[in-house]
Amino acid sequence: MAILLDGRALARTIAQGLAPRVAALPRAPGLAVVLVGSDPASVVYVRLKARAAEGLGLHHRQVDLPERASEAEVLATVDALNADPSVDGILVQLPLPTQVRREAVLDRVDPSKDVDGFHPENTGRLTQGRPRFVPCTPRGILALLDHHDVPLSGRRAVVVGRSPIVGRPVAALLDQRNATVTVCHTRTADLEAEVRRAEILVVAVGRPDAVPGAWVPPGAAVVDAGTNRLPDGRLVGDIAPHPALEAVGWITPTPGGVGPMTIAMLMANTVESAELRLAAR
Ligand code: NAP
Repeated sequence: MAILLDGRALARTIAQGLAPRVAALPRAPGLAVVLVGSDPASVVYVRLKARAAEGLGLHHRQVDLPERASEAEVLATVDALNADPSVDGILVQLPLPTQVRREAVLDRVDPSKDVDGFHPENTGRLTQGRPRFVPCTPRGILALLDHHDVPLSGRRAVVVGRSPIVGRPVAALLDQRNATVTVCHTRTADLEAEVRRAEILVVAVGRPDAVPGAWVPPGAAVVDAGTNRLPDGRLVGDIAPHPALEAVGWITPTPGGVGPMTIAMLMANTVESAELRLAAR
């Protein structure tokens, strides 16, 4: 029977560990979330982040901009948050409307407030193995694996998906922990063969049946980062259900696996940012 990589439970433990650190600071850590437009999934994510921040006693601020906001308006908002000393973390909710270039906005966030870890300076630091802010979903995935003592060193890790948000940073983190990492994507010649040899499998594609469960080898540690809303309203991952999944060693549930860990790590990054900023005063 597979061990459940329970993200909800670990997220609660992480929040309990952060609470005394928040209480020890001379002021509440400040998290600012910029939401452009009203993409329904983004609205839900932003609400979950606000709830977590408030539950932890952070100072949470949300800036709502209209769907038609210009890139200049979004950049001006980021500039104002960069300059605001009460803000320790800035998160620009993705995706952005098409008239706003994602890179232009993410590059504008002060790297010392970039709690999402998407600024090129933070990406570069992560790649060099001396991270400042590790992107929240990859950091959460590693925390889940570590909490359950999943062996990483020397293991064959297969990461399906190579986005800068999940796949690439997860691959870098697993590599730094001495796993032997294969990154798969749309041009991978034989995805089934790659998945079948995984001892650690991380899937972040964004399609409900991207990886058939029948491919997943027994004993593997399986992390499904996919978040797909089906027409009937159910939330499912990227790995299609199959009895073979009962024989894996560890597996994330969906929902309740990677999602809560992403939010917990956003809180951790924001508290760490506040600690660093307040210590530097
Ligand atoms: P993304 O930017 O769209 O990247 C998807 C990646 O999957 C790309 O690298 C793409 O390859 C690859 N891919 C697509 N179809 C494939 C296929 N048939 N075979 C192999 N690889 C394929 O997505 P993302 O932002 O990384 O998100 C991925 C999933 O994770 C989504 O479901 C998203 O909602 C979820 N997610 C969850 C959380 C959370 O907190 N739970 C956070 C972030 C993301 P190419 O590079 O070749 O195009």
